Amino acid sequence: KVRVRFAPSPTGSLHIGGVRTALYNYLLARKHGGKMLLRIEDTDQTRFVPGAEAYILDALEWMGIEIDEGIVKGGKDLGPHAPYRQSERKPIYREYAERLVKEGKAYYAFDTAEELESMRKELEAAQVATAQYNAVTRMKMKNSLTLSPEETARRLAAGDAHVIRIKLNPRDEVRLNDMVRGWVSWHATELDDKVLLKSDGMPTYHLASVVDDHLMEISHVIRGEEWLPSAPIHVLLYRYLGWEATMPRFAHISLVLNPDGNGKLSKRDAGIGDFPRIPLSWTDPVTGQKAIGFREEGYLPDAMANFLAFLGWNPGTEQELFSIDELIQAFSLERMNKAGARFDIQKARWYNQQYIRMMADEKLGGLVIQDAKNRAAGLDEALVPKFVRLFKERVTFVHEIVSESTGLLIAPESYETEVASKKWTSEAVRGIEAFKVALAGASPEVNAEEAKNLLHDVLESLGIKMGKVMQSLRLAITGKGAGPDLMLIIEVLGRDETVKRLDAAIE
Ligand code: GLU
Repeated sequence: KVRVRFAPSPTGSLHIGGVRTALYNYLLARKHGGKMLLRIEDTDQTRFVPGAEAYILDALEWMGIEIDEGIVKGGKDLGPHAPYRQSERKPIYREYAERLVKEGKAYYAFDTAEELESMRKELEAAQVATAQYNAVTRMKMKNSLTLSPEETARRLAAGDAHVIRIKLNPRDEVRLNDMVRGWVSWHATELDDKVLLKSDGMPTYHLASVVDDHLMEISHVIRGEEWLPSAPIHVLLYRYLGWEATMPRFAHISLVLNPDGNGKLSKRDAGIGDFPRIPLSWTDPVTGQKAIGFREEGYLPDAMANFLAFLGWNPGTEQELFSIDELIQAFSLERMNKAGARFDIQKARWYNQQYIRMMADEKLGGLVIQDAKNRAAGLDEALVPKFVRLFKERVTFVHEIVSESTGLLIAPESYETEVASKKWTSEAVRGIEAFKVALAGASPEVNAEEAKNLLHDVLESLGIKMGKVMQSLRLAITGKGAGPDLMLIIEVLGRDETVKRLDAAIE
């Protein structure tokens, strides 16, 4: 059975690449009727940021990524493997670390920060660039492999600061058949005796993630390519702990690259600059720095999911628009792209535009009303269905419907001069004048159809062609040379407002 997990560290806002990772996990779980877990990896207490966990939950909820097991909003952890916050699972990790020590696969190390630093300096001076604490160097350091058993026991009993390190066998080889990258292999000599348990009793990421993935019966580990260098340590841990037979499959997915394609998209400059990089707006609790999110920028969650899915995966067909359900159907790890995907904000905008166009008018109207409320923009709700018809095909974001609509309700203060100089002919003015008179005699709630007939009749009787007048008429009413259906605009504005604007324009 498919069991996947999203395992973020609560170190700040969630980068959009993290959301993408969560999405792929979710799609795989749903596709196979499996389970999606949310585990919080908060063992590095120096990097803990208050509010980050709540942010992660909000972001996943906004994206429509449902959690079957793990941390949930405002409640007890959900599922049989609780707790799902690693800081609350501390004793579990120590038990496994101690077991590895007993079996000779790990050892206690008592080295101080200064001792480690001088070892590093020595290696640097000797121009040794590879692993530091390994089969060679560990023999010169203070650990249970070099100290006598009595001395080790004495130090432990005295509570001397120590870590537990994995004891790599220099002859070990690691081969991994990654579901995205294919076969990858490492030689233990390229690797470190990584710390498994830190001096504060907390596990490192390596130990905690392997122990939890095993205990939580994870079937597939889908995570960013930046974790590939850690994978050999994880495979060895499965081996040393005797869990190799049930080791999850690994899929290290390609990076999200910055728009230039020459580096990883970073969240350090999240949303500061020309586009957002995080799902929801976030104020850093330490620096106070504010970053804008995709939600606040006006992106629709479904459009975002569609966009993100395509950053690293392809369906193998020309189809680009996929609802979440369609993504679930179409998704497979075999179709992940090996190369990194350039983050193209224009594509995100395009998706948003498509999703607005595809949305039912009524639903879009609801979003327009909500958006107007959010930004306290006065909007006559009765007019919203008309505004939706006017702007649906023309905007990228819902808030543009609101601003275009409220803009429309204000009479123009100036006229686009280029259009005016070309189209504002005496013939056009004559037509507009006559139309104004005819319109003044119409019902106050003149509709688009009626307005169109009026204009048609008036111009016909004067022998003036529609094409000679239309753009000037638009200019007179809206101040602009182009825009949505003019007759519908007249319907929205009503007789009196339209006549007033025509008067002002030809006066
Ligand atoms: N805690 C790691 C992170 O923040 C998880 C990596 C993994 O999925 O193994 O991304």
